[in-house]
Amino acid sequence: MTKTYTVTLIPGDGIGPEITAAVINVIRAAGVKINWEEQSAGASVLEKEGTVLPQRVLDSISKNGVALKGPITTPIGKGFRSVNVALRKELDLYACVRPAKTLPGIKSRYEQVDLVIVRENTEDLYAGIERKIDDDTAESIKRITRGASERIARYAFEYAVKNSRHKVTAVSKANICKFSDGLFLEGVRTVAQEYPQIAYEEVLVDNLCMQLVINPEIYDVLVLPNLYGDIVSDLAAGLTGGLGVAPGANIGAHAAVFEAVHGSSPALAGQHKANPTALLLSACLMLRHLGEVAAAQKIEQALEAVLKEGKVRTFDLGGCAATEEFAQAVIAKL
Ligand code: NAD
Repeated sequence: MTKTYTVTLIPGDGIGPEITAAVINVIRAAGVKINWEEQSAGASVLEKEGTVLPQRVLDSISKNGVALKGPITTPIGKGFRSVNVALRKELDLYACVRPAKTLPGIKSRYEQVDLVIVRENTEDLYAGIERKIDDDTAESIKRITRGASERIARYAFEYAVKNSRHKVTAVSKANICKFSDGLFLEGVRTVAQEYPQIAYEEVLVDNLCMQLVINPEIYDVLVLPNLYGDIVSDLAAGLTGGLGVAPGANIGAHAAVFEAVHGSSPALAGQHKANPTALLLSACLMLRHLGEVAAAQKIEQALEAVLKEGKVRTFDLGGCAATEEFAQAVIAKL
């Protein structure tokens, strides 16, 4: 008998509900039985429940251990704290994993990008320790700890071993942030010694950005503190076809939340034209995490066949297909 999984589903804001609906249809068509426990979060629940991240959402993810999440809007400069950041912090989802791989049929400047970003997800400038000193001055604290640095480094090296990767590159700005990024590097170096079979190198984040644009093929696994990891993830998404095709996962010891790199894209909301590929690839990472490797491969192959054929494409890839139409094309190839 096929197993039925219970997974928390957060449809999210903006394009979130459209792309999650499309992705659920593909997973169902691939034959994986999932009982989706839908939980809303974000601005839409604030008025009714007094918080953007109700305890019920955290309880559901903690109970199920796995969630698929659509993007959630975070107003800039004012209002509530990011639900995304809070979720990662509350559930201690310390590793943000974002593969960036060239896909067949997708026009990009490079042909053989295949790198994985492992971003520390719990501290750095995202710890939310900031204050306004007076009307003209504000400050944010960049907190880095040895424990979190060693933990993310170990995740990156273990990932490299398990996924037959050969090199881990630690990214920092330790020449300027000597104490904070210096401590991050110290943590990574300590852990690197435990993995002599994996090559280890270090690069400054500004140099990395230039190298990624000139020659992204030289990188394999990148391990970064939170803020650099966030920025470099979008850069890497741009190397492989844009945010519409960039998947991600937030992994902790007890729970994992799978979501696309992109945000809620408010301008596209309700138009049914967003590309569901990034969330679909994130769902494939989720299926692998659940042990449904064959189903993940089946979906990835169907997706690649649609992309390679190029007849059904969303607007960001030069086509005019609707979100659901694209999902149906993938389903037809399963
Ligand atoms: P965004 O990722 O929503 O959009 C950036 C650009 O990429 C836009 O041009 C958009 O149209 C395009 N794009 C994004 N996803 C696409 C898709 N699936 N198909 C086609 N095109 C796509 O980034 P933003 O505009 O900076 O952020 C919007 C909101 O999302 C903000 O409130 C931000 O805080 C939030 N956000 C949430 C998450 C998350 O929930 N994990 C991540 C990033 C941003």
